[in-house]
Parts: sequence; structure tokens; C-alpha cells
Amino acid sequence: IAPSERRTIRELPDELVSQIAAGEVVERPASVVRELVDNALDAGSTQIGVRLVAGGVRAILIEDDGGGIEASELPLALKRHATSKIRSLDDLESVTTMGFRGEALAAIASVSELALVSRTPAAGHAQRLDARSGELSPAARAQGTTVEVRELFFSTPARRKFLKSDSTELAHCIEAVRRHALVRPMVGFAVWHEGKLVEQWRASDESQRIKDVLGEEFIDNSRPLEAEIGPIAIRGRVGLPAAARTRSDHQYVYVNGRYVRDRLIAHALRSAYEDVLHGQKQPAYVLFIEIDPARVDVNVHPTKIEVRFRDSGAIHQAVKRAVEDVLAPSGATAPGTGVV
Ligand code: ADP
Ligand code: MG
Repeated sequence: IAPSERRTIRELPDELVSQIAAGEVVERPASVVRELVDNALDAGSTQIGVRLVAGGVRAILIEDDGGGIEASELPLALKRHATSKIRSLDDLESVTTMGFRGEALAAIASVSELALVSRTPAAGHAQRLDARSGELSPAARAQGTTVEVRELFFSTPARRKFLKSDSTELAHCIEAVRRHALVRPMVGFAVWHEGKLVEQWRASDESQRIKDVLGEEFIDNSRPLEAEIGPIAIRGRVGLPAAARTRSDHQYVYVNGRYVRDRLIAHALRSAYEDVLHGQKQPAYVLFIEIDPARVDVNVHPTKIEVRFRDSGAIHQAVKRAVEDVLAPSGATAPGTGVV
């Protein structure tokens, strides 16, 4: 290309824009599972099924019994920046749905073979939309939505090369469902791999779900936490220092129902355990933090795994003190109260 030509500014084609966006949102099959389960939850589903082939690389089918998508809106659901979840900046400030960016389906469709099958309560039958051809056809299913994602990264071999073995990708997919399952006890989840049921969590309550997901051993080796400080409410279970492990795989923090990895909260937890935990041991914990949505910005990262707090100091202090109170040797504080 001649230098003069190289400098021409061009608008990128839609498809390419989506593929670039997909780079941020869709890293591996588990990212697709996360986004699609988010959508199923936002649709008010009570049962969510995840069917995987080859660790999700060949196929990911997510079926729900939620509100469905109107046939006339199916093509819109696949469009970039098209969403039913927010209408204005004000809505963004108080958003309570998992999604709101209207990006996931467009991004996933740009790096896979995607089809939507959906039926609303009012519809006489389901409709199927094939993303690539844009073809709409009648289909059979009960109320709800099935999203079929096949051959992830088939058109971007460079990306596909970064994928690990099927069993590793499967483990990541299951972990993605587990993160949702912990915080949505009233929703039933099931995961199949190549036709075989590999994980199932039946609808229940919070304490039963924690037990179902993290096991009896975690319950035996942890204490309940419940604290309220000003506008911040924290509940969950924190692992006893004696039961800390070398792996950090039982560390779950949620802010307003959203799984997050937050450095501030991680730091608060580390300092709460500082005096009672030795060496490189990792404590286990599940924390559900509830805070006025206006005080936390979830629109920091496309995957929304990072958040930004308006009063980060208060959050840090609340988490640290709530956890310290539970971990305090009995006598110092009544176990389980953790009131700050
Ligand atoms: P977002 O979730 O940010 O709105 P998505 O690209 O994930 O963006 O989805 C686009 C739209 O498609 C959603 O706003 C929603 O209206 C619709 N949608 C997607 N998945 C489902 C589902 N499982 N059930 C009902 N509607 C869905
Ligand atoms: Mg979404």
C-alpha cells in the first residue's frame, strides 16, 4: 500500500467491528457460557440447561425457560448495541440486569455459527434465526430461548489456537456456570457434556446451594457472615484459616449479584486474614455484597468482571471488619454476628 493510501481513514465494516469487540468479550467457550447464562437469567428463567460438545469448542447450547424473544425482534437481538435492558444513561446508573451493553450476541455471532430459537408466552410456536444466513423459520420448543453456538473461532484460527484441551475448556465452562449457580439458588442449572450430565444444581435456597456447589467440607470449615454498615450489606460464608488451601479456587465475591474480581475487595480479604493465616495458604470464601447500584460502576470492563466503587474506602473497611469479626477467636466477638 502506498503511504498516502495507508493514511486514509475508513469506517470498519460492521462484521469486523464485532469481531474486534469479540476479542474483549469472548476469550474461550466459558466466556460464551457466561454471557448466555447472564442473558437467560435476565430473561427470568427458572431452569437453565447448558449442553457442550468438545469442551464447548464444537458446540454450546444454552436453553432456558425465560420470557423469550419476539420473532420480529430476533434479528435485532443479534445487532451490536441493541438491548432491551437500558434506554438511557439514567437506566445505566441503576441497572440491575446482568447485561446492558447489547454486545454479547453480536460478538459471539461474529466468531461462531450462531442460531437463536425462541418462543414468547404469547407466540403459537417458536422461531429460529440463523445468524449467518439471516433466515427465519418456524421451530418447535416450549416457552423460552435456546442459543446454539457452534464452531467457536472457526473463522479466526489464531484465536482458536489459544484454546486448551477439551477437558480444560470444559472445566472453565463448568466454573462459569458454578459462579452463576452460587448467586442464583432459586434457579436450577444442569450441564451436559457430549450427552452426559456432568453437573446439576436443583433450585433451592442460598445455604443449600452453597452446600451443593462448594460441598459439605466447605460448610464444616467455614462460618456464616452477616453484616450491615451504612449502605453496604455483606453476607456469605468465610473459611476458617485452619482449612485454607494452596489453591485459590474457592474464592467467590459478588457485588449486587454479579461475580467480580476486584483488587480492592481481594486486598480487604487478605488483610482480614493476615494475622490468622500463614504462608501462601488461600482462604475459601463466598461473599455477597449488596450496595446501592448508583454507588458502583459496573461499566468499567466489557465482561463486567471489574467494578468501580464510589466509596472504595468504606467498602474496603466494611469487608475487612466483617471478615475479621467472624474470624476473631471466640470470646472476642460472638461468632457469626460480624456486625460492624
Ligand atoms: P444485553 O444482554 O447486553 O442486552 P446481548 O447481546 O447479550 O445484550 O442480548 C441482546 C438482547 O437479546 C437482550 O437485550 C435481550 O433482549 C435479548 N436476549 C438475549 N438472550 C436472551 C434470552 N436467553 N432470553 C430472552 N431474551 C434474550
Ligand atoms: Mg447479554
